Amino acid sequence: MTKTPAGVMPMPDSSPLADSLAEVTGLDLHMHSTASDGALAPAELMALCRARGLTHLALTDHDTLEGVAEAEKAARELGLRLLPATELSSQWGGVNIHVVALLPEGAHGPLADGLAEQARARAARAEEIARRLEAIGLDDALAKARAQAGSERPLGRPDFARALVADGLVKDIGTAFKKYLGNGKRGDIKAHWPALETVVAWVVAAGGVAVLAHPLRYGMTRRKRGLLLDAFRGAGGEAVELVSGFQNPDQTRDLARQLIERDLAGSLGSDFHAPGGPLAPGSMSPVPRVAVTPVWHHPRLAGFAAA
Ligand code: AMP
Ligand code: MN
Ligand code: MN
Ligand code: MN
Repeated sequence: MTKTPAGVMPMPDSSPLADSLAEVTGLDLHMHSTASDGALAPAELMALCRARGLTHLALTDHDTLEGVAEAEKAARELGLRLLPATELSSQWGGVNIHVVALLPEGAHGPLADGLAEQARARAARAEEIARRLEAIGLDDALAKARAQAGSERPLGRPDFARALVADGLVKDIGTAFKKYLGNGKRGDIKAHWPALETVVAWVVAAGGVAVLAHPLRYGMTRRKRGLLLDAFRGAGGEAVELVSGFQNPDQTRDLARQLIERDLAGSLGSDFHAPGGPLAPGSMSPVPRVAVTPVWHHPRLAGFAAA
């Protein structure tokens, strides 16, 4: 760090990223803002990242790049490296799968059309979720979810979860997901999302790197996760989140083996949504020394990883 006058935050080091997943610092490639279901505006998020000493970031709002322009401006002013990115909703084997798209060239070609389609799918899904929640007693569910969102951004399941809590139908957000919105429950509607292979193809065509998000959070057996990794790799996916927020170290090592077997690179992210919880930008479980290639070694990300 360079010496700066008292009271002024020093600029972060502009050194290149470390050569291994275990040694890297200052990196978070999975975070949300108010452009989707995060609590901080993109510029506020960048300021928090800066205050926490992070240097290399990706803003990964659900199915949109709406927050990226504001984040890029803030990142420039703060001396941070930011990759345009988004977390795409898809489906595979009856499960809602998330793909983080790291997009050094931004969104163009089929991805641009795909994002417009994702917004329509999200709106149609919200109407369907609302109908199903009205059946269990949440009157005017769509309006209530919209009120919880507090803006015109596309609605997500967390908005419905908050509406259920506000109406006293469940005691907290966790229960809302467990009873009504989580995997396999009545408010978990996957039919609107494209196939995993489709969203991965969009990312590759846009000159990006497709990263399978939080593979340990789909409730799959190791065997099924292996099949998911095969399908993802077969579709052109190149990296997987080896660590997402906090996770069990034995599971991380086991996942690393599955990545090495398939020559998949590793990414890291907190999946930060809001201050006040256990997670913050850059917070995640330590990464064991494993022979997984860091995603920032990908030729398409060379400009991002450089000093
Ligand atoms: P959606 O993108 O609308 O399908 O909503 C998915 C989002 O809901 C995730 O990205 C999380 O932010 C949130 N979420 C999923 N499961 C839970 C849970 N069990 N508790 C709280 N939030 C959750
Ligand atoms: Mn989310
Ligand atoms: Mn996700
Ligand atoms: Mn996420």
